[in-house]
This record gives sequence, C-alpha cells and structure tokens, in this order.
Amino acid sequence: MAAQDSQTARPSPSLAGMRATRGRRAVLAALDEASDHPTAEDLLLRARKADPALSLSSVYRILKEFHDRGMVRRHVFTQGRAVWELAQRALHAHLIDVHTGEIVELPEADLVRRYQAEAETLGYRLRDVRLELYGERIDRGQAWPPHAPA
Ligand SMILES: [Zn+2]
Repeated sequence: MAAQDSQTARPSPSLAGMRATRGRRAVLAALDEASDHPTAEDLLLRARKADPALSLSSVYRILKEFHDRGMVRRHVFTQGRAVWELAQRALHAHLIDVHTGEIVELPEADLVRRYQAEAETLGYRLRDVRLELYGERIDRGQAWPPHAPA
C-alpha cells in the first residue's frame, strides 16, 4: 500500500495476510492504542474488552506470531519482564528511570538515526534497535548507584 496522504498520523497496523481472528485483532488494537510499553498481562487486560474469551497463553501465542513476522518489538528493560510495542513505530531509544522503572522514549535520538544511516552504508536495514539509556531524574537528589563521597 503505497498511497499516502498529507496526514501525519501513522497508518493503522494490519494483520498482513494473517487470518483476522478476534484475538489477533484485539491484541493488535491494544498494541496500537498503547502509549506505554505494555507487558503481555497488560495487553490481556486491554484486549479482553474486545475479546472477553482471550487467555494469557493466547496473548503470548499471538505476540510470538507478530514477533516472528516482524510486527512487534520485544524489550526486556528491568526486572526481567518483556514489554511490547509495534515495530512500525519510528526507531527510538529508551531512557529507563533506574528508580521507578519508568520508560521514556527518545523518539528523535540522533544516535539511532546515525546507527540507521551507518547500517545502510554497510548494506543493512535496521529491523530493531536496542539502545537503552539508564538514568534518574535530576531533581531526585541522590546518585545511582550509591557510592561513598571521595
Ligand atoms: Zn519504545
């Protein structure tokens, strides 16, 4: 689908040849509506509004199908929990708050664009970028990791 209008909104994700089951549509819609980085459990709660019969094992199976087709990105930032986002989102870096686990996206990260350009000069197209930055709010007033003053 090459048609594109002047609208700046990103296109809706599609099931791209997969059978449009209720569960797949529900999980895809939950991913599309997410402004955060949901876990499979988060997606189950959100997708159950559209498909009350959905189970956690179905969500995992659907996420694996989406991941195998390059439709979603899977990240494990902290506490070993996988979080998900649509792959069609522009490549971006993630800044993880070391105290709260909050994930902040840096959508215009120059480094990501630079890596993308460098990969292309080497003949590669980036499918995923795992640039993770760990920080803390400046106004928090404590260092991480804690250390004794010199
Ligand atoms: Zn993200």
